[in-house]
Amino acid sequence: MKIGHAAVLCALAAGACLAADAVRPPHHGPDGFRNLDPDYKQKTGEDVRRWRRERADKNLPEPDSYRFELADNDPAFLHVNRTQPTATWIGHATVLLQAGGFNVLTDPEFSDRSSPVQWAGPKRVVPPGIAIEDLPPIDLVVISHSHYDHLDAGSIRALRRRPGGERTLFAVPLGLAAWFRGIGVDNVRELDWWESTSLGTLSLTAVPAQHWSQRTLWDRNQTLWAGWVLAVPGFRAYFAGDSGYSPLFREIGATLGPFDLALIPIGAYEPRWFMQANHVSPEEAVFVHRDVRARRSIGIHWGTFVLSDERLTDPPAQLAEAMQAHGVPPEEFLILKHGETRVLDAMATDVPGA
Ligand code: ZN
Ligand code: ZN
Repeated sequence: MKIGHAAVLCALAAGACLAADAVRPPHHGPDGFRNLDPDYKQKTGEDVRRWRRERADKNLPEPDSYRFELADNDPAFLHVNRTQPTATWIGHATVLLQAGGFNVLTDPEFSDRSSPVQWAGPKRVVPPGIAIEDLPPIDLVVISHSHYDHLDAGSIRALRRRPGGERTLFAVPLGLAAWFRGIGVDNVRELDWWESTSLGTLSLTAVPAQHWSQRTLWDRNQTLWAGWVLAVPGFRAYFAGDSGYSPLFREIGATLGPFDLALIPIGAYEPRWFMQANHVSPEEAVFVHRDVRARRSIGIHWGTFVLSDERLTDPPAQLAEAMQAHGVPPEEFLILKHGETRVLDAMATDVPGA
């Protein structure tokens, strides 16, 4: 039986044990981090085997069969732009966000495979919408959690090695700073849910998500998962990371919203019995958009790696259906091409009190 830190403390001194439990936030479990929903259940090895068995009978398209058209990106504009808020979908959960003169990158994944090794594992079906060397200087990178499709060692090293890369700040959920230092990235700040930090006029808050973490056989839930709220004067954005649908979204919207922009995952949701606890469906993404009080959202986490049982082209179609069913106008929840940049200043100007 595994003995957690709290149990060791209990064995040493009953008083210390009580004190540790009293101050420990509910998402800090004795053996790792945990979700707040008491009914949340971690998937078991048997669940994974059942998913794989059933998947084999589904006749899913080969990853090589997908053809996504890349947008004609304009890196020169992104390099000089310091005034207009923009969002560029690079692919999967990787977005370049420009606001308040800051260049921010979410969950950078530029490698060919979302995997611990580059010779096996899910292969990207479309190149990154902007090559890493064409990005403008990056002020801040936010990481949502340790899964390989969100935390890619090759991409982090490449960002650090760029000219000026030593100035790029990496903001990570609790427990992940050691991993960064281990690969030579020292400009890293680690935050717990609801903790904030700032970089000049940019303020950044880690917010809860319902998910999990793992990179090795031994580190399940040893590092935290999170979404991020970024605010600069006149513009607020929310990056959801990976999450199942949860009352947390309303809390985030009530506490830190409304947002000029939300980046919300819409892919990796089938089969529901397996994915639902950790990944929202496109319909639930519409609920998230409303719950967090986003004036505009962009669908991410789709169309790049085959990680689940829906076709890679399904999420935008399902999203459009859900938006129509729930009365969300098409301009409120956008689907971008890989590499497409959207200028967002028309939204920013109508933020009351901003
Ligand atoms: Zn994940
Ligand atoms: Zn993911």
